[in-house]
Amino acid sequence: MGNKTNHKRANKVKAALARNAKWAQAHPLVQRYLSRVTIVGLDTECWPWTGVLQAKEKRAMLNTGGRQAVAARIGWELFIGPLASGECVCHHCDNPSCCRPSHFFVGSHKDNMRDRDRKGRQPLGEQRPSAKLTEIDVRSILGSAQSNKSLAEIYAVDPSRISAIRHRRAWRHLHEETTL
Ligand SMILES: [Zn+2]
Repeated sequence: MGNKTNHKRANKVKAALARNAKWAQAHPLVQRYLSRVTIVGLDTECWPWTGVLQAKEKRAMLNTGGRQAVAARIGWELFIGPLASGECVCHHCDNPSCCRPSHFFVGSHKDNMRDRDRKGRQPLGEQRPSAKLTEIDVRSILGSAQSNKSLAEIYAVDPSRISAIRHRRAWRHLHEETTL
């Protein structure tokens, strides 16, 4: 994937944000969040956090209401939806400083620990043996320019499942939405 394509996709994401500009302007927290990420185009690429990183685990942190909060939690609540108490925001990309909403998934604290454990031990592609796609995965797949085959490898599923998603035979309701 060349730089040109990357640039084009970055513009697409920025355009999607611009369409939501009114909403973003009405929320200073959205502005602060977006001013601290580096927006890049490819779905597999992380949005690095340019703000404060927690010393120990290098998690992205954002000051809200006078205290440092985990930026991924704030990002989830801003761009995806509310979190229940006890739910954690985990990273598909296993990069604690990444703040790209489509790289987040939500789990319990136990899931978070298990996820970390699993990712530490197993090679890429076998990370999710159950191969169960989440809504976030599907959003990433729909926004991706990669081939069915390479996406199938990334998500450890059969290429026919990627094809089904792209041809609206599965997860139809997500087609109309914008992927961040
Ligand atoms: Zn990431």
